[in-house]
Amino acid sequence: MSLDLPRAEARTETRGRAASPAADEIRQRLEHARSTRLAQLKALDESGQSSDDHLTSTQKEAIKRVLAEIDEAFARVDDGTYGACLGCGKAVPPERLEILPHTRHCVACQRRAN
Ligand SMILES: [Zn+2]
Repeated sequence: MSLDLPRAEARTETRGRAASPAADEIRQRLEHARSTRLAQLKALDESGQSSDDHLTSTQKEAIKRVLAEIDEAFARVDDGTYGACLGCGKAVPPERLEILPHTRHCVACQRRAN
């Protein structure tokens, strides 16, 4: 058994990991966002509103869309592209990601999309 681990190999290992050192924190944030949305969805289901209530179904649609975006964000954390704007490729500001961890666009591109 040898203890002299080649230094180059150790460095490659660090580089090969997820690009962001905060990947775990991002996952936690996304988990939280997901459980919040799922709780909202459950609350709407249990509120006893009739299913043809337009407002309720609109709210549900919106929540489901966010849940899909959260899933996509998880995938981007895994492949290391999380935090980059899909519109311009620049990094989305961290304070924006804190509020909207699943967002795919920076403020400028989001505005352009709307
Ligand atoms: Zn952008």
